[in-house]
Amino acid sequence: MAKLKILIQGYAKEIDGKEFASSSTVLINENNLNIVVDPGINRKELLKSLEKENLKVSDINFVILTHMHNDHSLLSGIFENAKILDNSDIISFDSNMYSHNGFIPNTNIKIIKTPGHDQFHASILVETEDLGSVVIAGDVFWWYDNEEQKIDLESLLNHKDPYVKNENQLKQSRKEILQIADYIIPGHGKIFKVIK
Ligand SMILES: [Zn+2]
Repeated sequence: MAKLKILIQGYAKEIDGKEFASSSTVLINENNLNIVVDPGINRKELLKSLEKENLKVSDINFVILTHMHNDHSLLSGIFENAKILDNSDIISFDSNMYSHNGFIPNTNIKIIKTPGHDQFHASILVETEDLGSVVIAGDVFWWYDNEEQKIDLESLLNHKDPYVKNENQLKQSRKEILQIADYIIPGHGKIFKVIK
């Protein structure tokens, strides 16, 4: 089973008329592999959070990107020893690319295609001892900091995403995740328990 830690809680806020946003960043350890999901855009915060875990950027084996928007993906290049995984491929810094089989190599951590917010969006399913099935959902679910995070089923399925690419697909992806998750980590906002 995997150990999971939220390194940075994703945020989206306005300060003095300027917009600031970075994704939830999650650290997973399974089979002695260090995995970072969505390193985000805030370099200082990311380095500080890794230091707290006694990790260097060179200790990370895999970086998983839920999608390629900068607020989730920008810092993936700083992990010099990592392979990068997106919804379909494993990418190395020697420019080699090949398809994955829906799992992070040598783990039971699943990469699920969840289009809607973005056509190539993926979510990550992690089995943990303390929280059960956790889905790192990227922007399938996300809130601005000043929005109330309503987690009843209706609100979750119908919550407006101002950047949605395909509403039907997004709703379908939301349904799928809600069925399999005990807990969901949204792209921006707090982790929440799925009410069954
Ligand atoms: Zn985002």
